[in-house]
Amino acid sequence: MRISILGLEDERFNRPLTLIANLFFEESQILTSQTDDADIQIAFQLQVQENIVVSAKLTDQSGKALFAEYQQDFKGADSEKERFKQIKNAVSHVYLTVLQDLTGITQKWGILTGVRPTKLLHKKLQEGIPAEVAHRQLKDEYLITDEKIALMHHIVNRQLTVVPDLYSLEREVSIYIGIPFCPTKCAYCTFPAYAINGRQGSVDSFLGGLHYEMRKIGEWLKEKGVRITTVYYGGGTPTSITAEEMDMLYEEMYNSFPDVSNIREITVEAGRPDTITPEKLDVLKKWNIDRISINPQSYTQETLKAIGRHHTVTETIEKYHLAREMGMNNINMDLIIGLPGEGLKEFTHSLAETEKLMPESVTVHTLSFKRASEMTKNKEKYKVADRTEVEKMMNLAEDWTADHGYVPYYLYRQKNILGNLENVGYSLPNQESIYNIMIMEEQQTIIGLGCGASSKFIDPVTGKITHFANPKDPKSYNDGFEAYTEDKIKILDELFSEKGSPA
Ligand code: SF4
Repeated sequence: MRISILGLEDERFNRPLTLIANLFFEESQILTSQTDDADIQIAFQLQVQENIVVSAKLTDQSGKALFAEYQQDFKGADSEKERFKQIKNAVSHVYLTVLQDLTGITQKWGILTGVRPTKLLHKKLQEGIPAEVAHRQLKDEYLITDEKIALMHHIVNRQLTVVPDLYSLEREVSIYIGIPFCPTKCAYCTFPAYAINGRQGSVDSFLGGLHYEMRKIGEWLKEKGVRITTVYYGGGTPTSITAEEMDMLYEEMYNSFPDVSNIREITVEAGRPDTITPEKLDVLKKWNIDRISINPQSYTQETLKAIGRHHTVTETIEKYHLAREMGMNNINMDLIIGLPGEGLKEFTHSLAETEKLMPESVTVHTLSFKRASEMTKNKEKYKVADRTEVEKMMNLAEDWTADHGYVPYYLYRQKNILGNLENVGYSLPNQESIYNIMIMEEQQTIIGLGCGASSKFIDPVTGKITHFANPKDPKSYNDGFEAYTEDKIKILDELFSEKGSPA
């Protein structure tokens, strides 16, 4: 879809307008001049004084015209960035309205295209805005539907119940540890995940670097008296390494990190059932790992084959029971809506199988076509459900979880996600993952160690976010881990200097 935009000179509008257009059309292109070969033309009029007043007139090739107008108070702004944000939101408001009218599609998340919608509600509550007023603002200013506002409200309340001090954890940190290996690579995956077979040399060097990072960061945390809220081992699949290697890694964690017995939660993703063995479960138990993830994604064997997960459905179920028998009492299971070849029938089957197991939490993802994945590169090979069916599956997940006692406690959205929907974490009450809440709501620093681990440093005073990424491939990591550790310590020193002593 080629969209000609008139009346907006500022180039900064191009990206947000493209992102919104992509919610409606497969491939959209924004043209900033009048041209005859555009499919539609949208002419804006914008006035910014005490109010922001904006209108949009859409004309298609048949001469049909649609019109929208919107006015909102200009709230004043400390910076040009903040000023532009308000104007951009008002422009997006009329733009979304005419596109919704043209296509007949209602975007449930309104003009929001970002990853963390619940953060917006938290921000308003932290500013002291009463919940009902905040909800009205989300509806009026962002055009979010009542259904999604109710979901956000539910989730935010749940998070504040599970982590009552969520708004005052800025002087603690959480730790993410990335282990970049998997038995094989799945077709939809863009995580740092290298097939482990035949790579023992690279695994050994990687673990050497990781132990080093854990020691150095641990020393820093102890020295500054900074506490750890949660630790999360992800990847890749952290249980791809051997039981002995896992044992040494957790021993390092206990030796290096401060006050490990009081860390609120330690999670290890054991995503691929084919990596789980009694020996590894023994190690997890030995080191009091609180929570693991065993991810079926689907309970239909052909689907697992199509996406390159070389394990069977039976293996998922067997490993789940084994983990239970060996004392794991907080197990998460991930499901994905919209995997190739799957519709309501297959998803209903996956839920029926989940019902037999009743894990403590179920995370329901909606398939997203990430740019670098094998699936996106060969899109024509993978047939996926249409928007209506994806929505039906999402509704089914909502009803099923509610009927079985699960509550939604975190959500995030991705680009190119089927049906422009979201990923939602559900859990039985009091089994929520605190780490997932911390990563989504960005209330504290998360230090990433290991391969592909992103650190997100949050200034405890200003809330400003600085990103830092360790390299994704083991070779670059092995060559540079000392330097990456040093860089992170420098950033931490700045953020947690005098002002950063623990509260
Ligand atoms: S198991 Fe997870 S991390 Fe590993 S390849 Fe598959 S999707 Fe990627």
